[in-house]
Amino acid sequence: MDYFPIFMKLQDQACLLVGGGEVALRKARLLRSAGARLRIIAPELTPELAAWVAAGEVEHIAAAFRPEMLGHPQLVIAATNAREVNQQVTDAAKAAGIPVNVVDDPELSSFITPAIIDRSPMVIAVSTGGKVPVLARLMRARLESLIPAGYGALARFAGDWRERVKARFSQVDERRAFWEAVLQGPLAEAVMAGSDGGDVEMDALLASNARWHAGCVYLVGAGPGNPDLLTFRALRLMQQADVVLYDKLVAPELLELVRRDAERIYVGKARADHTLPQDDINSLMVSLAKAGRRVLRLKGGDPFTFGRGGEEIDTLAAEGIPFEVVPGITSASGAAAYAGIPLTHRDYAQSVVFVTGHMKDGSFNLDWPALTRPQQTVVVYMGLSHIQGLCDGFILHGKAADTPAAIVEQATTVRQRTLTGTLADLPALAQAHGIASPALIIVGEVVRLSDRLAWYRRKPAGG
Ligand code: SAH
Repeated sequence: MDYFPIFMKLQDQACLLVGGGEVALRKARLLRSAGARLRIIAPELTPELAAWVAAGEVEHIAAAFRPEMLGHPQLVIAATNAREVNQQVTDAAKAAGIPVNVVDDPELSSFITPAIIDRSPMVIAVSTGGKVPVLARLMRARLESLIPAGYGALARFAGDWRERVKARFSQVDERRAFWEAVLQGPLAEAVMAGSDGGDVEMDALLASNARWHAGCVYLVGAGPGNPDLLTFRALRLMQQADVVLYDKLVAPELLELVRRDAERIYVGKARADHTLPQDDINSLMVSLAKAGRRVLRLKGGDPFTFGRGGEEIDTLAAEGIPFEVVPGITSASGAAAYAGIPLTHRDYAQSVVFVTGHMKDGSFNLDWPALTRPQQTVVVYMGLSHIQGLCDGFILHGKAADTPAAIVEQATTVRQRTLTGTLADLPALAQAHGIASPALIIVGEVVRLSDRLAWYRRKPAGG
């Protein structure tokens, strides 16, 4: 380790900042958020710094730095754009034994400042020893996306309960097991989401052993297939589940992101091969959760859009099992974006309808007059196996045979294929290209825009 990390208490401590420009402003913000009493030495200040001075929140000495101005601060930061001045500040501070940082100049600094992820009271600091600040910032961006914004609230909550938990469990091991269960369970999720029922629930958990061993179910939308389109929340829950129930729609690259030692259970649900009937999936979730496991029910797209998510949590609600639902990008949104088909481009469509092309008892059971309205885009889920009947239906109910129509296979994944045509020729096109499930059919004038707006996996011009 080239640098020893510490967290320094600055509440009400005098800190000196030399410089009054944008860089100084950034440092001033940070020092103030740590509660420092700030003195700034600079001939001139940015308007924001000047406003703090005017409000009496920050002290300002309007002059160029001279060594005798140093005083006795806890630490010094030099943020001027003149190296000689920064050098003077450093020399003075080092002579007085005061920690000093020169912004972006590790050579002149006795300490360096890390990239920070602030979930106070939890703070994460990342440093590359001043060697590759950009890398530290990239790492910070990754951590920001993994650590929920509510983590600060959770840390404060856990801090408030610390003594009572200690009193309840005298053994360290017991205590750790309790905290591990609580901090990764539904109560923690509720606290992070801003619920104020946390204290009542915590009381109940401490009162009963059975309760904090209880499991829960996360019903998570995994999006249309591209891992980049997961939500932060989906990814986090995927990484803390004990067991995952997934079906055919969940792309393999998504499954890769589930916690490595989580048990994986395939529950099928491709249209024609119902590996497990819905009732069995429901009761499997119930029994796993009752056995104390954190169950991840991972579904393609959005769980509440043709996903039977409602039925699945209905059973959980009836059984009193804690659950939460995480929305996902539904495949219609994914396909539209990645195929360059704006579903409601205002020149062409004022509404969009999502329907299922799944047949029941040999017929579509669709509201054709509603589907064939002008100025409307229709997206058909699960329509591939009856594409001929569907396209015929549109024409039969009044749509022009040359209405633009598209089919998007495996949308958003590296395997995506998009075919565009008309209601009249789309079925033959799909067949000729061997389009397979999952695929969406999009009908409406907006499909025309795909030629111009498609960007994903498009060959370079002239290529
Ligand atoms: N809950 C899912 C839909 C489940 S129904 C969602 O919100 O997207 C299954 C149908 O969704 C498939 O038959 C297909 O029509 C569509 N689908 C799901 N993922 C898809 C993808 N990556 N590309 C194209 N269609 C997809």
